[in-house]
Amino acid sequence: IKWTEGRGWHDAELVPYAPLAIDPANMTLHYAQTIFEGLKAYRQPDGTVATFRPRANAERFQASARRMAMPELPADLFIEACDALIKQDRAWVPDSGEASLYLRPFMFASEVGLGVRPANEFLFMVIASPAGAYFPGGVKPVSVWLSEEYVRAVKGGTGAAKTGGNYAASLVAQAQAASHGCDQVVWLDAVEHRWIEEMGGMNLYFVYGDRIVTPELTGSLLPGITRDSLLTIARDLGYTAEEGRITTEDWKRDNENGTLTEVFACGTAAVITPVGSVKSERANWTQGDGQPGEVTMKLRKALLDLQTGHTADTHGWMHPLG
Ligand code: PMP
Repeated sequence: IKWTEGRGWHDAELVPYAPLAIDPANMTLHYAQTIFEGLKAYRQPDGTVATFRPRANAERFQASARRMAMPELPADLFIEACDALIKQDRAWVPDSGEASLYLRPFMFASEVGLGVRPANEFLFMVIASPAGAYFPGGVKPVSVWLSEEYVRAVKGGTGAAKTGGNYAASLVAQAQAASHGCDQVVWLDAVEHRWIEEMGGMNLYFVYGDRIVTPELTGSLLPGITRDSLLTIARDLGYTAEEGRITTEDWKRDNENGTLTEVFACGTAAVITPVGSVKSERANWTQGDGQPGEVTMKLRKALLDLQTGHTADTHGWMHPLG
């Protein structure tokens, strides 16, 4: 779907997957005015297909657009575009367990020019790819690196928007995490380098017995849809679920004194991933016994059962395509 200043959204079309011809002076290539989303369609037990909370993705996409001085795509159009792509050939939606069809809606400046200003032509597209189970051999805890050198986002910056630049800036820290033998980066706040924000592509939860806590939305972390869903699901299951503030010292101390029983990360791709060990320049510890915890696995199952249609959709989160 195209957007042109003065004309709005126009020329929606469904076309075969193919490379785009990009002008060397395309504004996105130079100034990175680009945003994206990620969501999944799951096969339901009766053979139909449903996406998980597409309206939440549509609304986050609008918020990202506002931050990046881009036009807002109406939520219904966002959902309709995703539906149209899936309906074009439902066979692409896998029909086993945790496997899904991953949808990637995105928008970028399609105008040609070298002036630094908001573009006045954009292209919105959706592509899709089948995604297997994230942990085909069983859930495996990840090791994390607390990044004290690099920061992902600052107050007033673009941390709460899903824009490419955030990810480009994170690659060097991800490489640093890997060089220390860790799977993922954990981002800290930009001022004191001690408040836990989020992981490279997932939000974090801290389990204190039957109380679960996730870092509050400070404006410099992404408001994850899985994070939001788990606040509700955890309460449905009888846990106390809240947003709070946790430092790296709290994490280490509460793990040592045994009050912090589990830590997990959550996001569309992996749903829920246990955190098994933590490293930084100054510390190195095993989270709990390093194994997936009971609360983590219970929440993981509850969310996946909902997404795959094995439990009732009491919150109206599933969007059926028929
Ligand atoms: N944080 C970041 C930086 C992410 O890229 C993602 C993935 N979209 C998340 C958190 C988790 O968000 P969601 O649950 O909506 O996938």
